[in-house]
Amino acid sequence: MGHEPDPFSVGDAVGIGRYHRQMLVAGIGEHGQANLGAAHVLVVGCGALGSPAADLLVRAGVGRVTLVDRDVVEITNLHRQTLFAQADVGDAKAESAARRLREVNSAVLVRGVAADVSHRNVERLLGGMASAAEEMDGAWPAADVVVDGTDNFETRYLLNDACVKRGAALVYAGAVGTRLTQMTIVPGVTPCLRCLFPEAPAPGSMPTCDTAGILGPVSSIAGSLEAMEALRVIVARRTFERGSLVEIDGWTGVMRRVSVGGPVAGCVCCGERRFEFLAGAGETMTTSLCGRGAIQVLPAAEVEIDLAGLAERLSSHGRFEVTRTMVRGVLESEGGRELTVFHDGRAVVGRRRDGKPADPEIARAIFARYVGV
Ligand SMILES: [Zn+2]
Repeated sequence: MGHEPDPFSVGDAVGIGRYHRQMLVAGIGEHGQANLGAAHVLVVGCGALGSPAADLLVRAGVGRVTLVDRDVVEITNLHRQTLFAQADVGDAKAESAARRLREVNSAVLVRGVAADVSHRNVERLLGGMASAAEEMDGAWPAADVVVDGTDNFETRYLLNDACVKRGAALVYAGAVGTRLTQMTIVPGVTPCLRCLFPEAPAPGSMPTCDTAGILGPVSSIAGSLEAMEALRVIVARRTFERGSLVEIDGWTGVMRRVSVGGPVAGCVCCGERRFEFLAGAGETMTTSLCGRGAIQVLPAAEVEIDLAGLAERLSSHGRFEVTRTMVRGVLESEGGRELTVFHDGRAVVGRRRDGKPADPEIARAIFARYVGV
């Protein structure tokens, strides 16, 4: 006769007792908890939204969590990115976040992938493979839910394509300044991103966290809402009968919920099943400018940039001058890196003040942050 483990013992990291208060909630119970334990959630972006979302999902006992992020932790992230501490500055976000989350709940399989999500790897990641060689842990089951923790529309439309194609739910949220927007996409049940917004906003036309700022509580509310929705998809997907868009202004406390009905007939993505972003249509193109340590970034679509408006938004990051055809200056917030944006959306990301050249990944990240795709 062996020792009977006590599910409520203090030292028990994996026992069911850990989730007792959560299982008491109507709609969860043992069945819901078992569903969570069997689920795989892919969190794309471990920043201001991905941090609280991944933290809550791992605490809730979601069986497998994959974290993908292309960036490293910076000191300017710490006021809102709740998974990181000062000692993590300079580390890859995906790896640092995975390390922290394994400490939070050792019963959850957590995988960190330091990569840029693109049309080349998104389906593989969604399918449960971390790398082409799959040398890490072996393939996992496909993701049931994708949590959008990204900061740019290029990646969001790509995730929308991939999720609709595979039937995975996509939990979207965006937060800038004091405001957030959240919507959950259940393919075939709710509208997809392209049903509601057929085209991505033009580069430079939308505020980003790097131009308009962001309050930590606001992005944390957005990330918490995403975790909530991911749990609801896993435990009670049938309760999604139609879509809704939630908007909250954290500063004024005003909340608005708009019903958005079902899929829009004739939608390019979920109606016609043409996955243009998966085919690479939305990808920002980069070209190395030989000998200059600079990278040219071409926007995904034809655009006309409001140069004066862009210069205004960039003015808190350095000195920028506007001419008839371009905005040109130096981003002090990026170590004094040169940035030129032309009226047609083309941008050149140059060297830092210390001489460090740009590479395609840095150039795409800076383009997404400051020009906004
Ligand atoms: Zn659609």
